[in-house]
Amino acid sequence: MRIANLAGRAVLITDSGAVDIAEASHGRFGPDPTAIYRDWADLTAWASTAELPAGTPYDEADLGAPVPEPGQVFAIGLNYRGHALESGITDFPVEPPVFTKFRSSITGPYGQLELPTATVDWEAELVVVIGAEAHHVAAADAWDHVAGLTIAQDYSDRTRQLVPPVPQFSLGKSFPGFTPMGPAVVTLDELTSVGRDYEDLEIGCTIDGEQVQKSRTSDLIFSVPVLIERLSAVLPLQPGDVILTGTPAGVGGGMQPPRFLQAGEEVVTWVEGIGELRQHCVPGRPHTTASAS
Ligand code: ZN
Repeated sequence: MRIANLAGRAVLITDSGAVDIAEASHGRFGPDPTAIYRDWADLTAWASTAELPAGTPYDEADLGAPVPEPGQVFAIGLNYRGHALESGITDFPVEPPVFTKFRSSITGPYGQLELPTATVDWEAELVVVIGAEAHHVAAADAWDHVAGLTIAQDYSDRTRQLVPPVPQFSLGKSFPGFTPMGPAVVTLDELTSVGRDYEDLEIGCTIDGEQVQKSRTSDLIFSVPVLIERLSAVLPLQPGDVILTGTPAGVGGGMQPPRFLQAGEEVVTWVEGIGELRQHCVPGRPHTTASAS
């Protein structure tokens, strides 16, 4: 299945277009794109047996984030060796660095990115969507708790992110629009059915067509199952929670000299088998930190 958020309603994306889940199920499932993950087992059982109506063509501009209101947003730092190295880290982490992106930063897959500073950077990321509660789950069982995979950008203001005395990443990664997500949540069996290995997907990012990031999710230091094991050892992961799994090498802050996003540039982010995100950068309301002023 490919599950999306079309104008605020949960839909299945088929070859012919979008199928409204609430309508096609005669109200068995509601229209809320986040809440459907609480009924994940029932939804997959229904979708595998239901006679679905033909999909309706839709305008991709109406796609919102497929999980617009996750209860918890986890994000992982330094989870590809190449990115750790470009960040000046040569002792690879033995525990995944974890922060959050506040929920108000989540937006749909296509649109504008307002730049509040001159130091906004890009981070292409694979996103895990939880489909069953996971608490004290071993890595070997972790995929059973995953509804599917999607894509996010972890846009990051490097100045705000690194404000002393103890850098706390979350605010610097949570300006409005800093977490575009989508275009759909793709289930693991769907990826397998189109010949993809969901543990080894190409991921990348271009700016105005220039490739800046390209890697494979098999290069993750902490794989998806290990992340679920480590996170769920501390707290329960709930249906509809999302995990941004970290970004590969090629961010602007790691370049010599550093490069950051400029108004007018277009960022395209992709993961094979899932799709792509596109943001057009525009000037935003200026922001300065106390330490930078
Ligand atoms: Zn990131």
